[in-house]
Amino acid sequence: MDDDVRSQLVADLPGAAVRGEIVAFYQPQVDILTGAVVGAEALSRWFHPELGLVSPEVFIPLAEAAGAISAIGNHMLTTACGFGAERARHGASIDIAVNVSAIQLRNEDFAADVLYCASQHGLDPRHLTIEITESEAVLDIVAVGERFDLLRLAGVTVSIDDFGRGQSSIDQLLALQASELKIDQSLVQNRAANSHTLLAAVISFAHDKGLRVVAEGIETPGQLATMTTLGCDRAQGYLTGRAMPGDEFDEFVSASRST
Ligand code: C2E
Ligand code: MG
Ligand code: MG
Repeated sequence: MDDDVRSQLVADLPGAAVRGEIVAFYQPQVDILTGAVVGAEALSRWFHPELGLVSPEVFIPLAEAAGAISAIGNHMLTTACGFGAERARHGASIDIAVNVSAIQLRNEDFAADVLYCASQHGLDPRHLTIEITESEAVLDIVAVGERFDLLRLAGVTVSIDDFGRGQSSIDQLLALQASELKIDQSLVQNRAANSHTLLAAVISFAHDKGLRVVAEGIETPGQLATMTTLGCDRAQGYLTGRAMPGDEFDEFVSASRST
């Protein structure tokens, strides 16, 4: 990315959410055995008025560095809670997952804010998942652990995202008492037989600890079959549905039910 574009993005980030430029897309998560849509991950998209669609891979790190991540994170949380609550009101409850930056976890009111947001929208916290990616930024594991305790007590699922991408550690998983593990697409798409041995061990360990296991980045029927055999609980990937706007998601679910 050239420096001018980067500077423009950084300059425009504050206020992008308020201006309605940051939009939530929803990617289906399916029960790996039945194929039913049981959840959705909210993924942010920035529709920049001059530069067009900007990927979260680009703007989330910029927002973290520029101090704009909390505004975006809150906007995504409130949008996703609203979406989940609306579906529940129509008798089509699903679990809604929201990505949270490690910087947001530094806020001591993080858990209270999340629960307040869910209650304002009328979303049952048992249908809300908070996804965190392990990183050095989770510095104060004790404080973050306490925030997660509060969430867990209220029924919110704490999920460790991108497991296997490099930073993941079983220690952190245990210390944070997560309730869900998301296996990164790099592991899911790895065809080496020994990676399956590793995955089988990770999945069985996670199940022993009572965690739900989601396989991310499933693109082929072969990968889906492997992850099913290995005992994953849920699948998320281009094969079972890409991230899409909320209204398309509703149509997608209706269409998948009638086939
Ligand atoms: P993530 O949380 O691991 O989300 C999964 C990413 O993998 C998404 O990319 C999704 O579109 C992509 N993906 C899903 N299935 C497949 C597949 O079968 N093949 C391939 N190649 N990719 C697949 P996306 O939407 O570009 O998001 C990238 C990352 O940006 C996310 O990774 C997450 O770390 C971050 N992110 C997105 N939205 C937010 C947000 O609202 N807040 C924060 N803090 N981070 C966000
Ligand atoms: Mg995620
Ligand atoms: Mg991930």
